[in-house]
Amino acid sequence: METKYVFVTGGVVSSLGKGIISSSLACLLKARGYRVTIQKFDPYINIDPGTLNPYEHGECYVTVDGHIGDLDLGHYERFTNVNTTRANNITTGRIYQSVIDKERRGDYLGKTVQVVPHITDEIKRNIKKLGNTGDFDFVITEIGGTVGDIESLPYLESVRQLRWELGNNCACIHLTYVPYVNAAKELKTKPTQHSVKKLQELGIQPDILVLRTEKNVEPDMRRKIALFCNVAPDSVVQSLDVPSIYQVPLMLHEQHFDEIVMRCTGVPVEGEPDMKQWIAFLNKMENATKTVKIGLVGKYVELPDAYKSINESLFQAATYNDRRLEIKFIQSEKLNPANVEEKLAGLDGVLVGPGSGQRGVEGKIAAINWCREHDIPTFGICLGMQCMVIEYARDVLGLTDANSTEMDLGTPHKVIDLMEEQKSIANMGETTRRGSYDCSLLPSSKTAKAYGKTNISERHFHRYELNNAYRTQLEANGMACVGENPATKLVEVVEVPEKRWFIGVQYHPEYSSTVLAPHPLFVDFVKAAIEYGKNK
Ligand code: GLN
Repeated sequence: METKYVFVTGGVVSSLGKGIISSSLACLLKARGYRVTIQKFDPYINIDPGTLNPYEHGECYVTVDGHIGDLDLGHYERFTNVNTTRANNITTGRIYQSVIDKERRGDYLGKTVQVVPHITDEIKRNIKKLGNTGDFDFVITEIGGTVGDIESLPYLESVRQLRWELGNNCACIHLTYVPYVNAAKELKTKPTQHSVKKLQELGIQPDILVLRTEKNVEPDMRRKIALFCNVAPDSVVQSLDVPSIYQVPLMLHEQHFDEIVMRCTGVPVEGEPDMKQWIAFLNKMENATKTVKIGLVGKYVELPDAYKSINESLFQAATYNDRRLEIKFIQSEKLNPANVEEKLAGLDGVLVGPGSGQRGVEGKIAAINWCREHDIPTFGICLGMQCMVIEYARDVLGLTDANSTEMDLGTPHKVIDLMEEQKSIANMGETTRRGSYDCSLLPSSKTAKAYGKTNISERHFHRYELNNAYRTQLEANGMACVGENPATKLVEVVEVPEKRWFIGVQYHPEYSSTVLAPHPLFVDFVKAAIEYGKNK
């Protein structure tokens, strides 16, 4: 079949959940057997979110091909089980960079380079790029921001133009908000009407409206919205608040959302999506009564979005272990050896999160020390793993000043150090080791048992590494280096085998845990935490 393009725009306010709506649609279409991908256009000028403070932007998500992307890419993968790549996340910065590069090369043959047509052509090229691979039946494109934003204009203009080029192979979904005004005890449709008018002013008539709402929008009100917004009455669906984002696909399917999109794009509607496995996951989620309590130690804990993929991976792992998840967010900056016992009391397991820079590192080390001595299931990810090595070197090897050169350039014991090939690179955005790398695991390790295999490939996002000069000393004293990159011999996984579950990974398993394929290390960690919790 010809590739179908679905555009998702948002109006009224931000944070309505365009990413979840796009992901849910992709999930349903995939369950109908279609090949689907989702891309996100971010209107900001940064080339990628890699240089953004997590407080600004939440988590940076890393794709298999090493692109640092918006956290919505994580939702796309979790809902569809399909990997995204660099082509799935474009920013205004990248569009302009590419156009300016072309201008400098003389590709525009002396023409004046303008927003229309040059920037819009570049946007359209990037939208069609995924479709042109021939790998997808549906390309869902989420336009970041809200209708009316100055910076979104070139994207919306590109969508307007593409509607003419693509004809029936294209559908526009507009997500709006229907607020409940408590004083009037009424839902209000006016913001939606204004938002659609704004879109119409730009030449885009939405085909489908999704109304985000806290209260049920009755059929009469939906018909009124349809009438005022020039949309077919049966193409107005609602997205009510639900306890879990993973319930959204089914909620939308009950309103025939997937069928409406298929009808709009000329795809014959037959059969039903196969959501058996998805429903089994939801049943587990709804039936779980007991709780597993995990502590997440990090310096960005005031903003849970900064650890989005970790939260979701823990949640999926808890669900597959028939448990509700309770995460206690622990600010590493406020942890020290004197208060660690009180702050970590009652937890079944502790996850020490990724990060960069000195702030909060000593707190992470204090947490790890306490967990190791009390044999609490402990999972270190990236910086968390590096802190496990530093703590072990200080406390077990007796190298009291051991550190990472990221924290202390002058440390006499650089147990974590800059990788040789990174030393000469000066450009901030480019210095990290990113994307998927192979790792071979020691067959006897807990890690290999959790994976059920010894050859794995995992995503990385870091600059510093375990310094191999300390490997023999660490291993002789009980910290096993059980995973390494076969080509470079860089250590990717450490564990202390004599402990219940004490594993640190240099990579980021949280980026590849999905609803239908939860990550085996997370599942094993939560299992160990439950076991520990039972006998505590
Ligand atoms: N700051 C550390 C490094 O660059 C760890 C990075 C991370 O946790 N993602 O190696």
